[in-house]
Amino acid sequence: MTAISIIYGTEILGMTYELLQRSGVAERLRRAMRVVVKPNLVVAKPAREGATTHPEIVEGIIRFLKDFGIAKPVIAEGSWLGEQTGRAFSCCGYEALAKRYGLQIIDTKKDKIVKKNAYGLTLGICATFLETDFLINVPVLKGHCQTVMTCCLKNLKGCIPDSEKRHYHNIGLHKPIAALNTILKPDLHIIDGICGDPVFEEGGNPVTANRILIGTDPVLLDSYGATLIGYQADEIGYIRYAKEYGVGNLFGADTKIDEFQTENRPKNRTQNQSQLVCELAQLIDDNNACSACYAALIFALNKSGIRNSGKKFTETIKIGQGFRGKQFDGIGVGNCTQGGKHNVPGCPPSANDIVQMLKKL
Ligand code: SF4
Repeated sequence: MTAISIIYGTEILGMTYELLQRSGVAERLRRAMRVVVKPNLVVAKPAREGATTHPEIVEGIIRFLKDFGIAKPVIAEGSWLGEQTGRAFSCCGYEALAKRYGLQIIDTKKDKIVKKNAYGLTLGICATFLETDFLINVPVLKGHCQTVMTCCLKNLKGCIPDSEKRHYHNIGLHKPIAALNTILKPDLHIIDGICGDPVFEEGGNPVTANRILIGTDPVLLDSYGATLIGYQADEIGYIRYAKEYGVGNLFGADTKIDEFQTENRPKNRTQNQSQLVCELAQLIDDNNACSACYAALIFALNKSGIRNSGKKFTETIKIGQGFRGKQFDGIGVGNCTQGGKHNVPGCPPSANDIVQMLKKL
C-alpha cells in the first residue's frame, strides 16, 4: 500500500469507495471479521460545519465492506464531555445511516471500561474498540484550540470514557494521547479532509478542501496533515511522543504519496484564522482545561469583540482543573474555578453564559 493516497472531489461516497479499492485493503480483510468504524462525532453538528466526519465517507466504507462480504460492520463513538453521543449520531446522520443498512451504532460512553498500562500511565479504554478484528479510524483533519490540530492520533480520544477524558486534560493531553496509540492500533485510517475547521475542534469555520486521505501509519498521516493546515509536526506534542513511542514514522520528502482526481482540487480556500485564536489565547490563563471548556471560552472571547474593544485587560481569565480549590480575585470559567471572585459555572459552561458574564463586567 502507498504510504498516503489522496482523492479530490465532491462525490464523497464514490471517492471513499474508490480509495478503498485502490488501497489493497481487501487483502487484509476476512469475511468473518468484526469490523468497527470510528468516526469523529465530537459534537452534534452536521459535517458541513467542519467538526464531524461526513456520513457519506462512512457509507462508502460500509458499502465496500458489504460488497466484500462483511454484512454487519459496527459504528462506534463517544462524543466529547458535555455532548450526548446519541444526539450526535442523530444530528450527524448516523442514526439514519445505521437504519438504512441495518447496522448497530454503539454509544461508547455506556461501554465497559478496560484498563491498560502504557508508558507509565494506566489508561481506561472502551471495550468495543479492543474487542474488534479490524478497526477503521475515520477522523476529520482540523484545528484544535489546545493541541493545535487533531486527526488520526487524537481521534482515538473518542475511544475512552468521559472520566478518562478529564484525566487526560489533568495530566496534559499529549503524552496520554500518544500512549493510547500504542495500545489501540487502528488497521486503517481514512481522513475526512472535505471541509475541516482550521481553528476550532467543534467547527464553525469550515475550509473547503474536498479531499479524502487513506493510509495505515497515523504518525505519517498526522505529520503530513499538519502541513496541510499550516503547521509542522514538531509543533504538535502528541505527534512527537507518538514517534518516540514507536507508533509510526514522520512524513518526509521520500514519503510516497499518490493523488487521484487532482483536477477536482478546490480553487478558493478560506483564510486560515489561527492567528485569531493565538490573540484570544493571550487573554486566557489555562491550567489543564478540557477542550470543550476552552473552546467555549475562545468562542465567547471572539463573540464578545474584546480584541477590538480597545480596552486593556490587566488580568487574564482563569480556566482549568489546576484551579480547583484555589481562591483568586479575577474571573474564572467553569466549575473548576469557583474560587474566583467572578465565576461562570458549568462543566463545561456554555459560550453564551461566558459572553453574558463578560458583558456584565
Ligand atoms: S469545569 Fe471545565 S476544565 Fe473543569 S472539569 Fe469541567 S469541563 Fe473540565
